Amino acid sequence: MNKNVFNLELLIRPNVLKMKPYSSARDEFKDFDQEMIFLDANENPFETAVNRYPDPQQRKLKSILSQQKNIPTNQILLGNGSDEVLDLIFRAFCEPAKDNIITLPPTYGMYSVLANLNDIENREVLLDSDFQPDLDEISETMDSRTKLLFICSPNNPTGNLISSEKITKLLNNSKGLVVIDEAYIDFVSNESWLKRLKEFPNLIITQTLSKAYGMAGIRLGICYASAEIIAVLNKIKPPYNINKLTQQKAIEQLQDITRSIVDIALLNEEKNALSKALVEVCFIQNIYPSDSNFILIKVDNAEKRYLQLLEKGIVVRNRSSQPLCENTLRITIGTAWENEKLINIIKTLK
Ligand SMILES: *Cc1c(COP(=O)(O)O)cnc(C)c1O
Repeated sequence: MNKNVFNLELLIRPNVLKMKPYSSARDEFKDFDQEMIFLDANENPFETAVNRYPDPQQRKLKSILSQQKNIPTNQILLGNGSDEVLDLIFRAFCEPAKDNIITLPPTYGMYSVLANLNDIENREVLLDSDFQPDLDEISETMDSRTKLLFICSPNNPTGNLISSEKITKLLNNSKGLVVIDEAYIDFVSNESWLKRLKEFPNLIITQTLSKAYGMAGIRLGICYASAEIIAVLNKIKPPYNINKLTQQKAIEQLQDITRSIVDIALLNEEKNALSKALVEVCFIQNIYPSDSNFILIKVDNAEKRYLQLLEKGIVVRNRSSQPLCENTLRITIGTAWENEKLINIIKTLK
């Protein structure tokens, strides 16, 4: 994309463009160094460790992420899971009943849920047989009301990275914003688009602490984009969307990054071992290569195998309803013990 012609204002919903940011009580006095007496937010003054509202701008948490990812804090927005971040992106840019988005199935189901919720047309352009985007078809589908293109890389449920040449072309040719969902990016090294954020004013990257970082329970999603895009999202986010316990836990865990590095190495080893073991199972017809912490397999009869595993106490995900995913199961990599149990059981199924 020619940076000179990119005009973010033309993509923002008119009502959002006009809005002034809501300023919460806690926003207004954040720069005071002195110990203040806070009688402004109708909180209960007696200490419970959570009697005060959380920092609406999550400054400490953002400064840690900023250092670790080498991205300025004004290019970071945090959400109650990346699901909230994705919803904010819809609400900032897509005018209900007028605008459209493009998604590339088989992919993460939340994009279409949010499109429905926000009354936005979802134009689906199927991935090709290698689970890569069809550039010609996408460019034919795009029009002046296409506000967002969602690329999930590594993709859920297929597990593969999307080709960076293809993503570069899509970024250069899209009229709207391109959202790269990197929920699984920590399972591959050096593939994140964060290092190229500066090059593309229309790029939004989402990540999460729910997968590799092992914190699905605290609900923390992260959005990286230009300072201008982040300012728009900041304007419409609920003021206290990240609660205090989540901020504290994330700060504590992010300071110990060796833990997730060890987890990732272990899970990748387990994934390779599981893929090898599954090759020997006769009803498994295909084991798709995976750049994430799950494996998609094609079986003879997904519903039957799903129910057999359930019967034995193992829950996997049947993805057969997705296009190109007929008779597929998605298996998350568990602990060594869990994976071994799965292998032993799956080998006995008749
Ligand atoms: C799991 C997942 C997410 C994570 O969502 P959170 O709300 O952050 O837990 C986002 N995108 C994809 C593709 C996922 O699979």
